[in-house]
Amino acid sequence: MKILVVGGAGYIGSHCVRQLKEAGHDPVVLDNLVFGHRQAIANSIPFYEADLGDLTTVREILKREAIEGVMHFAAFAYVGESVENPLKYYHNNVSATYKLLQAMVDVGVNQFVFSSTCATFGNPSTLPITEDLPQAPINPYGQTKLDVEQALKNISHAHGLSFAAFRYFNAAGAAADGTIGEAHDPETHLIPVIFQTLLGQRDHLKIFGTDYPTPDGTCLRDYIHVDDLSRAHISVFDKLKHPATGLFYNLGVGKPYSVRDVINAVETVTGKTVPVVETNRRPGDPPSLYADNTKATSELGWTLQYKDLESIVETAWRWHSTHPNGYAS
Ligand code: UDP
Repeated sequence: MKILVVGGAGYIGSHCVRQLKEAGHDPVVLDNLVFGHRQAIANSIPFYEADLGDLTTVREILKREAIEGVMHFAAFAYVGESVENPLKYYHNNVSATYKLLQAMVDVGVNQFVFSSTCATFGNPSTLPITEDLPQAPINPYGQTKLDVEQALKNISHAHGLSFAAFRYFNAAGAAADGTIGEAHDPETHLIPVIFQTLLGQRDHLKIFGTDYPTPDGTCLRDYIHVDDLSRAHISVFDKLKHPATGLFYNLGVGKPYSVRDVINAVETVTGKTVPVVETNRRPGDPPSLYADNTKATSELGWTLQYKDLESIVETAWRWHSTHPNGYAS
């Protein structure tokens, strides 16, 4: 299929582009390069530097490239920033996404894969998190993703759009060959921040909260390899051939790891000691989030290549140790 990957030069998008190509599809990338990296995309892949909210340009690209389906990764995703500047999040994650969907409806492209998040569940009432748990985000970032999920149902009904929304848990790791990986600026995610500490770019890792109701007092999260996430996106297109299909999947490994577990895994993989300082909780962090991935595995024929944390961390270290300054290295 000819697939437009919006935000294809970002962390998850760039891994997906590579996998689409390997699976025999024809990806075309659209990215405004605010957070994306041109170097993350092979020169052989058509690339448009444009904004997803630029209706005229997006319509034009959809037509010119004869696009059959769209994957949308282009979102702002800093929870803290979304609390301080919610309008920035509503403008990009919601309004600009509606422009993209408008362009698709106008041109008649009716298969859509959307990056959603476990943050739509807020503080879940039960664990692990199944798809049908009530969604009650506790920050604007999660709310923007939930707004789009809900709008997709209406758009699907009215215009015959087929869509899949994936609620990601904690994307981690890098391509096995270490040539593309995670490069955010600023970096806030636990695993890359630990590596920046080991590389001497930070004095220590701050552990945000040690008094959570969890076995070791630190938060539990479900870390999933970025290539495992990407493969789910590719297999779902088979299910989007029928008009007006609407699918929701939780994508996680289903195993909870604490912040201390992650530090231990990094120390095992690298043989180095991570300097840490215990600090207060970070506002907006739920104590425990981990997925029940039964629906995705049974319906998509999706299997995980990376089932344990150390194997995920190993790929991340291969990337960070060879690219200490990300794509500028
Ligand atoms: N965390 C931490 N120190 C850091 C970054 C993150 O203790 O410098 C914790 C954070 O509080 C959370 C977990 O690590 O419990 C994962 O955070 P991350 O930002 O990677 O992902 P999130 O779960 O917020 O999407």
